[in-house]
Amino acid sequence: MPDISVLEALLEVQRLDNELDQLDHQEAALEERAAIATLNDEISGLDRASAGAEAERDELRKRQRSLETEAGDVEQKAAALDAKLYDGSVTSPKEATALGDEISGLKARQSELEDQSIELLLELEPLDEQLDVADAARAQMSSTIEGLQGELERKVTDIEAIRTTTKTARDAAASGLDDERLAHYSKMRITYGPSAVVQFDAGRGGGCPVAMSAVELDRWKHLAAGTLEPCVDCGRLVAKLD
Ligand SMILES: [Zn+2]
Repeated sequence: MPDISVLEALLEVQRLDNELDQLDHQEAALEERAAIATLNDEISGLDRASAGAEAERDELRKRQRSLETEAGDVEQKAAALDAKLYDGSVTSPKEATALGDEISGLKARQSELEDQSIELLLELEPLDEQLDVADAARAQMSSTIEGLQGELERKVTDIEAIRTTTKTARDAAASGLDDERLAHYSKMRITYGPSAVVQFDAGRGGGCPVAMSAVELDRWKHLAAGTLEPCVDCGRLVAKLD
């Protein structure tokens, strides 16, 4: 029969393992993680919406610049003809009239191109605005994420420190148990979770979470302190300390 200190060590190992599990849960469930994930989703949604607007804006800008270039070319061409009209090289009135007509045609074309360019600039305005708003929202969310990440790191560091202390205490308690007993306990833990080992308690259903039957309870009442055996009802290891 193992001595009482072995039973106490086993219960202590289990208590500390339960604490370590709780620390894992606590770390995984830190609210900052969920908040960061939500913000990242929102940024992704914003990116998708902005991608469409950006493509549209780029296309409009391209068309607008091309109109501007064309208007400039037409303007230059009209200016060159205008210069020719007055540089004395045109002597025939008929030629001068034809040239004048050509210049008027070019100026009309220039004005038409400039109007179209302005229309596109007006179409670009709301798109630019939409993209600016998205950029500002993205920057705001990124900065919030940064803050949350800092907070998360601080909390994780705190939990890690507690984990290190708990792990050291757990290993110290486990040093009071032989490998075979530890291996058995680990196997039981897979099945019974945080209450693989229970301390016999005559008043509280024998200490078993599902409560011992009256027969099993009576059997345990007559066992000596230091007994470590499975409960015949549920299979958990029962430790009788006194
Ligand atoms: Zn039981």
